[in-house]
Amino acid sequence: MSIFTKIITGEIPSYKVAEDDDFIAFLDINPNAKGHTLVVPKKEENKIFDLSKEAYSSLMDFSYRVAKALEKAVPCQRIGMSVIGLEVPHVHVHLVPTNVMSDMQFTHKVKLSKDEFVAIAASIADNFE
Ligand code: 5GP
Repeated sequence: MSIFTKIITGEIPSYKVAEDDDFIAFLDINPNAKGHTLVVPKKEENKIFDLSKEAYSSLMDFSYRVAKALEKAVPCQRIGMSVIGLEVPHVHVHLVPTNVMSDMQFTHKVKLSKDEFVAIAASIADNFE
């Protein structure tokens, strides 16, 4: 069972920003930038291009809605999107509020307090439609 499945089942906590029957979005615990969010299908699958076309499209649709909320909640030049999965083998889309190219480099990290995580998650959730 992946660490993200444990988040989905509530076994471990997360700063959740959006959820429906098939997807969940929560803040990355080690963010590249303030508001860095992960969008995750609840059905555990390792690689994104092993998803069916339908499941892939649904993931992109949900990510689109999360990105719109993120853009409203966190001032930035644009939302960067990336899929890697080398650390956690459970499909996830990284959405990163980006101002400079280094925001999309996964060696570039910011430290946030618990209060900051809580406030950002609430603000993204408020803007999610
Ligand atoms: P990737 O698998 O795409 O290389 O990276 C996995 C991402 O998941 C990393 O950005 C890492 O910070 C994040 N991550 C790993 N474990 C946890 C966790 O327990 N909770 C949350 N919210 N994020 C995690």
